[in-house]
Amino acid sequence: MFASVLIANRGEIAIRIARTAKRLGIRTIAVYSEADAKALHVRVCDEAHCIGPAPARESYLCVENILAVARARGAACIHPGYGFLSENADFAQACADAGIVFIGPSADSIRAMGLKDRAKALMVKAGVPVVPGYLGERQDAALLKQKAYELGYPVLIKAVAGGGGKGMRRVDLHAEFDAALEGAQREAKSSFGDGRVLIEKYVATPRHIEVQIFGDRFGNVIHLNERDCSLQRRHQKVIEESPAPGMSRELRAIMGEAAAEAARAVNYVGAGTVEFIADGSQGLHAGAFWFMEMNTRLQVEHPVTEAVTGLDLVEWQFRVASGEALPLRQEEIPLNGHAVEARLYAEDPEHGFLPSTGTLRAFDIQGDVRVDAGVEHGSVVSPYYDAMIAKLIAHAPTRAGALDKLADALEHTIVAGPKTNAAFLAALARAPEFSAGKFDTGFIGRNLAALGAVPREPDAAAAASGVVYLLQQQRAVIAANAAGEEAEPASPWDAGDGFQLSGVRVVEYPVIADDKHIMAKVTFGPQGMAVEIAGQPAADARVVDAGDGTVLVIHGGRQTAVRFAGADGAAGDAASGGGEIRAPMHGKVLAVLVDKGDSVRKGQRLAIIEAMKMEHALLAPFDGRVADISAVAGSQIAEKAMVMVVEAQEPVVS
Ligand code: ADP
Repeated sequence: MFASVLIANRGEIAIRIARTAKRLGIRTIAVYSEADAKALHVRVCDEAHCIGPAPARESYLCVENILAVARARGAACIHPGYGFLSENADFAQACADAGIVFIGPSADSIRAMGLKDRAKALMVKAGVPVVPGYLGERQDAALLKQKAYELGYPVLIKAVAGGGGKGMRRVDLHAEFDAALEGAQREAKSSFGDGRVLIEKYVATPRHIEVQIFGDRFGNVIHLNERDCSLQRRHQKVIEESPAPGMSRELRAIMGEAAAEAARAVNYVGAGTVEFIADGSQGLHAGAFWFMEMNTRLQVEHPVTEAVTGLDLVEWQFRVASGEALPLRQEEIPLNGHAVEARLYAEDPEHGFLPSTGTLRAFDIQGDVRVDAGVEHGSVVSPYYDAMIAKLIAHAPTRAGALDKLADALEHTIVAGPKTNAAFLAALARAPEFSAGKFDTGFIGRNLAALGAVPREPDAAAAASGVVYLLQQQRAVIAANAAGEEAEPASPWDAGDGFQLSGVRVVEYPVIADDKHIMAKVTFGPQGMAVEIAGQPAADARVVDAGDGTVLVIHGGRQTAVRFAGADGAAGDAASGGGEIRAPMHGKVLAVLVDKGDSVRKGQRLAIIEAMKMEHALLAPFDGRVADISAVAGSQIAEKAMVMVVEAQEPVVS
């Protein structure tokens, strides 16, 4: 076995590879970009070396810098993970030339499968079924359009150098072909520097079924069952599972053998995945699946295969790369129960799945699931790399059991700061049609609204939890301020017992939840305080204090930012000399939240005035210091009367 490995990757996959390496006694060498100096993968490895600035081109994709570290540190092998350099034939070759083992197939195998047209042509020769289409060299628009017409619509235009769904366009009508072709070519050119395309028949009710294969240096190739990755958004996988719903033992053997044949055709060594597209309209059956492409690396979704086989695929990669034969024969590969994986992204499904960056103020995933995470509490999700922060993998004797475990873990996933797709994934895992096995690659696109991936009203129950927290926090501040002073009996804040005598009191608070103004109804009664928003009581949710008067409430995997709204007109600005804080209306001063001489920050709550059973917070208009306080808690105050004066001061840089 190798003495050391350089892991040429970051995030969850770097950490996952390091875990197995450590178990096998292999010294782990991490590399990182300047943006990742504090990243988790840097700390879990035995040593770590900076390989350049944040942009991947200058660090994780920089062959020379990575090889320089490998040489200097005497790395016996390099594991590329997935993405980045994992399918870069030149990198594999450069490793070999430097006398360092590349954990993956040979440069030739990578090249053979690297371009979709060449790979498909090879598969035709090897007798593997491929999707009907045009794979030719000629690329003039008129010819491509003619070929599409002959195939019959709908067709799919694909970049021959494609990956990640880029440079791909579905065309339903002949009249739309030209525009689609232009779009596909433009995207292919800019993403891969290669504008060539191929044309394929678009398979109806498409199911993405892929087969995990493994080859060794002795010519053995076996498969480790299939994965179903049909739940996709824009041709990118979202949830993956093994086995595929509706897969028979016979069809598994047929597809597995086709996949192994594909691998043999390129003398494949190591872990690889052969992707098929199946026509699911009549259920899965022989004669209705076709080769799409082969990925010559470890896949993101490999853990579902590990769950149902009980094998460690990274261990197998190390063994095969070090010259050992495959540890098991085909008939010895287990298939136990059912496993499902969900990809947790820092993104906002309610707003077009835009990536969401920032510091993770909480990161806590519980439940009976395997968690492969690339981050922890305090990590920063940067805009430089893929926004996937973790994978959750559930395993159970049945598919229903695995989906239930997964949904449960997602619903209780606590990630604060960047938004995540946890609630969306949970909705998917609970979607009745998906649970019933009735789905294809268009399922997500057709059901965005039902899955909550559209702009939505704020989560009222979560907002109510946030208000409970904010009120308790405010009460604590007031209690601290009032310590030593005589309590104001008229104030509801420090007169808990008084409430019992006077009965129930209901007060409304204007609140901002996810930038929307809503009203919280707060009942102070003998049992304490109860908050209701839009008729909903506070949820059992995790509240994370963001520190600027805002709390982040995580409920059912969804994050809601909650803060009190300030009273209109109370906040002036320094330029207009607005340091005088005056009452916006006639009412009662419920609380004064600061002391004379206190430093305050812009937006900080200074005092609360109650009028017409509504509370209004008066906010600091700028960073400053409280110069004078005229209002007295518990007393009545007239409209426009002075509450306090705040003097502007330069913000203290902390
Ligand atoms: P990429 O390499 O860009 O990921 P793939 O060829 O792997 O592209 O295809 C990605 C996805 O596009 C597949 O998982 C499937 O959902 C869809 N797809 C690809 N080819 C077809 C086809 N011929 N018919 C229907 N859907 C397809």
